[in-house]
Formats: sequence, structure tokens, C-alpha cells
Amino acid sequence: MLRTKNRIHLVRNGMLAIALLSVCGMPASSEEVASKPKVRGAILAANDVTDGRLQELGEEGFNSVVLLVEGNAEEQVSARQGAAKRINSSSLGLCYWIEVARCPELADAHPAWMASLQTHDEWRRLYPDAPKPTADQVMKTYPWVPILSREPFTAQLNRIEKLLAEMPPPAAVYLNDLQGAPSACGCGNTLCRWTSDYGKRRTTVPLGDDAATLFVEAVKKVVPNSEVIPVWTTECEKHDGATDGQCAGVGCYDGICWKAYVKQLAPLAQANKHIGALAPYRAFKRDLPIYGEPCGWIRFVVESFAEMPKRHGADGIDASRLTLVLQGWDVGADDVAKQISVATESGVSGYVVAFTEIQQDWKPKLIHWR
Ligand SMILES: [Zn+2]
Ligand SMILES: [Zn+2]
Repeated sequence: MLRTKNRIHLVRNGMLAIALLSVCGMPASSEEVASKPKVRGAILAANDVTDGRLQELGEEGFNSVVLLVEGNAEEQVSARQGAAKRINSSSLGLCYWIEVARCPELADAHPAWMASLQTHDEWRRLYPDAPKPTADQVMKTYPWVPILSREPFTAQLNRIEKLLAEMPPPAAVYLNDLQGAPSACGCGNTLCRWTSDYGKRRTTVPLGDDAATLFVEAVKKVVPNSEVIPVWTTECEKHDGATDGQCAGVGCYDGICWKAYVKQLAPLAQANKHIGALAPYRAFKRDLPIYGEPCGWIRFVVESFAEMPKRHGADGIDASRLTLVLQGWDVGADDVAKQISVATESGVSGYVVAFTEIQQDWKPKLIHWR
């Protein structure tokens, strides 16, 4: 039942054929064998960029390094400058990864700019000891500062400008987390990100559905000679709505989530040829039997970009425009190889394997809102 809804329903006939052939262990015909994705990147923290590691990645078939750019402390800046230099001297291309919404620096300096946990209380199952807000307080999603409101939009843009200021120009900049924070409506699901402030206790001025599109345009002006690639996270799924599911009985899937998701994604997809898709399947707890194989969710992610916009009145986004972000941390080499193989079969134009953790956690934090 769930399998039908979540997988086969979304799988195009051709891809299903390839999937079945590979399940049966039969080689697909040459026409059906997916060609190697053009982009084959490795996300690395600056301290992991050694000449030895770069050589190893080249031998393993990677063709670019996506360097994590974070923090403005002197040692962080010099570490990433050194890393960029080593990458530029290697055979691999240089790209950057910037985490946008999950930002302790801005969350600590401006708690009011954080996303909030309002309306639904289901998230409390994850934090049973969290205090209840008084009338003057609001529960925030620490340390998430999404760009969906006016104040954080400008502050995040300034922060990124500083991060990139003393770095050599990259081929591409990946901007992660341009949507709302996890548990948007309070359901507790890390994938529910359609809004950053869903309730009456507002501490910021919300922007329109094109906030992410405008943000990407603004970053393009900072790095005019580089491609800027927004990285998007898929929304909740039907099975998440079960009482023991990630949305804990909240009707997110049939509610606003995907509708709002599409409204934000559609203008972004019109303005940007390439879109990243965040798919660390284990970190997102998507290693479930309903996806067929352990990392089968990756296939679902790709198909959802083609199907879900169409269901909500927008154009589907073809796999050939997607770069999948795969999980390379806390998993073995076999797991990475399997993810790459599923990504390749799905027809995406690229994948980047995150060998450094892409942090997605959050915790509730009370603040005064008036
Ligand atoms: Zn949702
Ligand atoms: Zn939800």
C-alpha cells in the first residue's frame, strides 16, 4: 500500500524497468544503462582537504571538491584558504558549500529571528521536558534562522558575503537550507519545512514565496562568475502522518506542506537550471523497507521533483537538472557506493557526497516575543 503510493506511483515506467532489472541482477541494455553523472563531488571540511585525500578522491572517480565554508574566526579563514589552494592545485574542481538557515552565530546574536514552534505540540514527544511558554514567550527552533523573513534575509546575505570575501572564485556555490526550519508546524518531522513562523506569536516580518529565489539572485551578485545552486529538501510523506510516524498524526502531507513547498520551489526552478536535493537518507531516518532497498529513498526524492510540482500546479523538475546530496558520514564505503549507484540509475546530472556531517538537528528554545 505505502509502497504503491510512495514509490511505484512516482516511478516512471523506464526507471522502474531499470530498477527491476537491477534487482533481478540482469544487466540492462546499453541504452538503459544510465550514463555517469557529470558532477561527482565530495563535500569536505577544510581540515580534511589533504593532498593525499584529494588524490584518493580523484582515483575514486570524483571530479570536484565542495569545500565547507563556515565561520569567520582567523583560523577558520586560513584553514579554508589553504584548502581551496590545495584543491585548485589538484585535478579536482573547486566548489563551496554554505549552510544558510542552521546558523548558531545569528541564532545566538538575534534569538528573535529564529523559526518558531507553534500551533502543534507533537514535537514535545521529542523534548518531553521542554517548558511551556507563558503568554509573553514563544518557543523557537534553535539554531535555525531561515531567510523567509525580512531581518534574517539581509543578515544571512551579509554573512555569506563575508564568508566568500577572501576566497578564490569557485565553479559553484551550493546554498543549503533556503526553506523553513524542521518541524515547521510543530509536528516534529525534520522534513516539514514549509514555513518558518506558523502561529500568532511573530517576531519577524515574513517575506513572500519567492524569498529563496531572491536570496539566490542576491548571492549570484556576490559571486558573479560562479554558478549558485540552491539545495532543496523534500517534504513529508503520506506514511509520516501515522500516529507513530514522523508527523505523529498531524495531517501535514495532505495539508499545507507540499502546496507551500511547490509555491517556493516553482519560482526557484524557473530561475535556476540546477537544483540540489538534500538526501542523507540515514540522517533523515528514511532507511525504511517501504523504499525497497536501504537507500531506495534517494529514488523517491528524484521522482518527487518530477511529480509533486505537477500535482500542485507547477512544472515538474527533471532528474537531469538535479544534483543529489548523499550521505558519506557515519556510513561505510559500501553504503556510499550503493547510494552513488542508485543516484546514477535515477538519471541525475550530479551527486555530491557529504563526507563531513551536514548538521540538521534542532532543539526548542524559549524566548520573549513582546
Ligand atoms: Zn510536512
Ligand atoms: Zn509534519
